[in-house]
Amino acid sequence: VSASEGEQAETIATACRLLAYLGLVRETTGHVSARVDNEYMLIRCRGSQEAGLVFTAAEAVQKVRFEGAGMTRGTSQYETPSELPIHGEMYLARPEVNAVVHAHPRASLVCTLAGLPLLPIFGSFDVHAMALAEIGIPVFPRSILIRDRALGRQLVAAMDGKPACIMRGHGITTVGATVQEATIRAIHLETLASVTLDVARAGGKLEPISEEDREYFRKLRETQDKKHQAHGQDILQWTWRHYTKLLAVHEAGRR
Ligand SMILES: [Zn+2]
Repeated sequence: VSASEGEQAETIATACRLLAYLGLVRETTGHVSARVDNEYMLIRCRGSQEAGLVFTAAEAVQKVRFEGAGMTRGTSQYETPSELPIHGEMYLARPEVNAVVHAHPRASLVCTLAGLPLLPIFGSFDVHAMALAEIGIPVFPRSILIRDRALGRQLVAAMDGKPACIMRGHGITTVGATVQEATIRAIHLETLASVTLDVARAGGKLEPISEEDREYFRKLRETQDKKHQAHGQDILQWTWRHYTKLLAVHEAGRR
């Protein structure tokens, strides 16, 4: 295990505990992975002492081939998630993707069941969630477990190169250039779903903000993208720091 793989395993474990703490994953379901190279990924697995994602330790993060075989990081006491093809097929098909999050968050789930579209219904409240809606959030129509490579490829095709998708009667999948980015996208996606659900429950109409305001955010994103190229992804780093500090405080209180 290289030092950087050990560090990645820690980040993946932190992401799993954070998603559990925020309620995006429950019990023992959901997983986070990161690309190692063009053949291997690090992915959260289940061990003999499995107790759910909220208790994920870095030891549960194993190095496996995209196809699932050849576990190299730990020992056979860990087994890969049954939905491993979500991750493996994504890395095989999309070279720009370095991290994948698969979770079963409630509001996103209910939106798929209620047939509620995820639209750019708000602006400044959460510009990152709004950006996901502008890019478009495809719906994967099947509710079954993605347990084989053919289904994995169907999911990848349904995502159509987008950063996030919702899976009817199942959950969500988000991707990113880093574990941090994929994780924060999952959080923002669930925020969008939860506001969408509240609007529908309040009897409101789900419609995008005005074209003029959408144009304003398109311009803002272009400027920010340029700024990110110059100064690094500040907002992403701040948001990740915010959530991991919250998690650390929560975990310190639990001890
Ligand atoms: Zn699932």
